[in-house]
Amino acid sequence: MLKVAKFGGSSMADEKQFAKVRQIVQSDPARRVVVVSAAGKRDRKDHKLTDLLYLCYAHLQYGVSCDSVFQMISDRYTGIRDALGLKTDIEGELSALREKMDDGISQDELVSRGEYFSAKLMADYLGFDFLDAKLWLKFKYDGSIDTDASYEALQKLAQGRSVVIPGFYGVTPDGHIRTLTRGGSDITGALAAAALDADVYENWTDVSGILMVDPRIVENPLPIEHITYSELRELSFAGAQVLHEATVFPVREKGIPLNIRNTNEPDHPGTLIMEHFDDEADDERIITGIAGKKNYSIVTVAKTGLSSTVGAYRRLFEIFENHEVSVEYAPSGIDSISLVVQASRVEKSIYAILGEIQKVLKPDSIHVTENISIVAAVGRRMVTTPGSSGKIFAALGKNGVNIRMISQGPEELNIIVGVDTKDFSTAIQVLYNSFVK
Ligand code: ADP
Ligand code: ASP
Ligand code: MG
Repeated sequence: MLKVAKFGGSSMADEKQFAKVRQIVQSDPARRVVVVSAAGKRDRKDHKLTDLLYLCYAHLQYGVSCDSVFQMISDRYTGIRDALGLKTDIEGELSALREKMDDGISQDELVSRGEYFSAKLMADYLGFDFLDAKLWLKFKYDGSIDTDASYEALQKLAQGRSVVIPGFYGVTPDGHIRTLTRGGSDITGALAAAALDADVYENWTDVSGILMVDPRIVENPLPIEHITYSELRELSFAGAQVLHEATVFPVREKGIPLNIRNTNEPDHPGTLIMEHFDDEADDERIITGIAGKKNYSIVTVAKTGLSSTVGAYRRLFEIFENHEVSVEYAPSGIDSISLVVQASRVEKSIYAILGEIQKVLKPDSIHVTENISIVAAVGRRMVTTPGSSGKIFAALGKNGVNIRMISQGPEELNIIVGVDTKDFSTAIQVLYNSFVK
C-alpha cells in the first residue's frame, strides 16, 4: 500500500502546522511519499512565501534592494526550524542563494526556493530523505512535462525509500529549474502518485474537501463527498480554485483515487474523486458543485444562414486563433453564434478581431458584451434528471438575475450561464440555495 500525500501552503505555514503534518504522516505507514508546498499564510494578513519570492525577484529586476523581503523569507524558515529544534542549515543555503541572486538568478529558480526549503525542513522533521524534484520532474523543450522520463526517474529514485519532495518545479532538458503554473504543487503530487502507481493521492489542505461552492461567496457550504474526475475538471475550469486544474490528468490516467483532506481536521473523510461511483443513493443532489469566473466578454456574430454556410465557423474561430485567444464557450443558434472569451485576452486585439470578422464574414451584426461572469452548475446526475436546466433558469429569473448566455456541454455534465458581473455572487448564492435547501 502506498499513499502519496501532498500538503499545501496552509499545512506548511508554521511549526504548529508542521506538527499536524507529522502526526498525519506518522499515523499511516503507507504515507511514504510526501510532497510539500512553500509556507502559506498563517492568517489573513500574512504573505505566502511564494508571493514574497516573486516580490523579491521584482525588486532585483528594477535594481531595488530586496533585503527586507529576503529577511522576511529567512525569518519564516529559520523560525520554523528553531521552533521544531531541527538542524537543517538554512543560513548556509540562504547565503548561497543570495550569491546566486547577485549573479543574476532566473525568476523560476528563485520562486521555487519556497518549496525547496519547505521540503528540506519537512524531511528533517519526519526523518525522511529529501528528494529534489530537479532530479526527476522533467520538462521537454516545448515546456510540457515529459511524463515517461519523469516517471521512470522517480521510480528509480524513490524505490524503497520514504521521501519528501518539493512541489511546484522541475528541470528543463538543459538543467535549469522551471516552475509549473501557480498552485502547481498539486500537479507534482499527482505526477508522483502516477509514477509510483500509488493506491491513493491524498491532497491535504485547509478545507474538509471540496465544498459545493467557494466559501468566500456562500457561508459554510456543504462539502462534496463524492465527485467524478470529469465533474471536478468542469468545476476547476469554471473557477473552483481548491485544486490546480491540471491535477486530475496524471491520476485519472492511472485510475488512482484522489482524496482531498483537511490537515486541521484529519478525521474528516474529505472528498473522494474517482472515475465513477457505483453505489450511489438515489436521493443524492442533482448538482454536485457550483463555480464561477469573472472578467469575460461575449462576441456575438449574427448572419442569416450562418450555421449552414460551409466553413463559416472555421473562419471565425481562425480569427481568434490568429490572435492567440482561446474561445472558452461558443453557444450558437441558426443565424448567430456567441464566442465567450477572457476579457484580458482580447484587451489589445478586440478591434483587430472585430475588423477581421467584418471583412471575412460580412455579418449582419457584431456585438460585444463586456463585464460578463461565467457561472457553472456541475452535476453528473443532470443528464438523468429532467428539468434541471429549467430549475436553474427559473431560480435566477425569480431573483432578478439577467441571463446573458447559456451553454451546456454535450455530456450534460454542466450548465453554464453568463451573467452581468454585478450579479456574480447573487447568481452563485441563488443556485446554491435553490438546489441545496
Ligand atoms: P493549498 O495551499 O492547500 O494548496 P489552496 O489555497 O490552494 O490550498 O486551496 C484551498 C482553498 O481553496 C480553500 O481554503 C478555499 O478558500 C478555496 N476554495 C475555493 N473554492 C473552493 C471550493 N469549492 N471548495 C473548497 N475550497 C475552495
Ligand atoms: N507555492 C506555489 C504557489 O503559491 C505552488 C503551490 O502552492 O502549489 O503557487
Ligand atoms: Mg493550492
